[in-house]
Amino acid sequence: MDKLKDWNEFEIGSVLFPFKKGVDGVMELYKCERTYSGDSSFTDSVAHWRVEKPVHNSEVCINCFNCWVFCPDSAILTSNDKLSGVDYVHCKGCGVCVDVCPTNPKSLLMFNDHKDNEEALREWPEKQPKKREV
Ligand code: SF4
Ligand code: SF4
Repeated sequence: MDKLKDWNEFEIGSVLFPFKKGVDGVMELYKCERTYSGDSSFTDSVAHWRVEKPVHNSEVCINCFNCWVFCPDSAILTSNDKLSGVDYVHCKGCGVCVDVCPTNPKSLLMFNDHKDNEEALREWPEKQPKKREV
């Protein structure tokens, strides 16, 4: 795959048109069937300024898809009806997916963008005891 253009390689004020053809009916198509233009936020990387990234732990994930529904960038990936990871080319590191994850411990946690995912998984916290209501 060719190197994706970074966000700061566009001229200031650039307008990116996402599709090669018109947008009529495009939402009814699967992503793979859409004709994205070469310079769009789908085909180019728009996440290089991220400071923290979410890491997914499939060992605790219950595949509820809350994160998939709430991610504002459609950056949660799925495969065979299961959550399969995060699209780091588009994820902005907002942390919404972590906030809405209901498991204990959470199945998505934020780590420094430079941290290796395998290392992050080794540091995963243990299940926390429930706090008693008083
Ligand atoms: S951090 Fe934000 S952009 Fe990235 S996957 Fe989570 S919700 Fe989506
Ligand atoms: S919200 Fe958490 S438990 Fe639900 S699918 Fe996403 S990572 Fe898995």
